[in-house]
Amino acid sequence: MTEGPTARLHAIRIERKFKGDVLQDIFVRSKKLHVDARCLINKKLKKATSFGKNILLYFNDYLIRMHLMMYGSIRFEKEYSKPFSRVRLTLFFAKDNLIVYNAPIIEIGKAEEIENILYSSYGIDPLTNWDKNRLRKMILGERERKIGDLLLDQHIFNGIGNILRNEILFRAMINPERKVKELSDEEIERLMENTRYLCKKFLELKLKGKGIKPILLIYNQKICKRCGGNIIFYRQEPNGRKTFYCPSCQK
Ligand SMILES: [Zn+2]
Repeated sequence: MTEGPTARLHAIRIERKFKGDVLQDIFVRSKKLHVDARCLINKKLKKATSFGKNILLYFNDYLIRMHLMMYGSIRFEKEYSKPFSRVRLTLFFAKDNLIVYNAPIIEIGKAEEIENILYSSYGIDPLTNWDKNRLRKMILGERERKIGDLLLDQHIFNGIGNILRNEILFRAMINPERKVKELSDEEIERLMENTRYLCKKFLELKLKGKGIKPILLIYNQKICKRCGGNIIFYRQEPNGRKTFYCPSCQK
């Protein structure tokens, strides 16, 4: 599963490997092509980055946006290691190829146009456009929603996935079922601080090639690491996602 920091990790790896390299050829299977993909041939990869769970590759004024969702994967390889029917994108470079399998979203177009859509439809990414005041306003604008559900809304918490959501709520000591209107200023502050902290920590661990186990205090756990009590597991409505919380620590 891709969370924002995983998307950033992919971008960092792509940049380390191919930045400055000239695209020799391209193969793409997608309905979201706003320009002829061959426009990118002979252009250099200028930058690779992420915005929320989107991975962005810049070739001069053109942009490739990818979203891996649950099943997409990116490999650097000269030969296809998976069936060709699963290939969504191949970028051919001199030293190696970048191949994307199964990704549901591959969009290619003018960088400015895709950026405009992205920045107006996605919320705050703690790794990109962190702005606590704006985030606070966006949260407070959703008074009737459960905080556990709001954390998955990419229009507000851009890049937060299910693991981070559970860990943020545990550290902020907030029950996922509470509505925004019931939260104190201090709780919202704790929530925002932990959102940023955990995204950075997640990326840091991934960059070191380590698993994210050190930050898992509640996700997939049975006993609370803080109080020793039993952790409750259920699927929260309306999102239906795996939810873990400690009834003693999270009020
Ligand atoms: Zn506890």
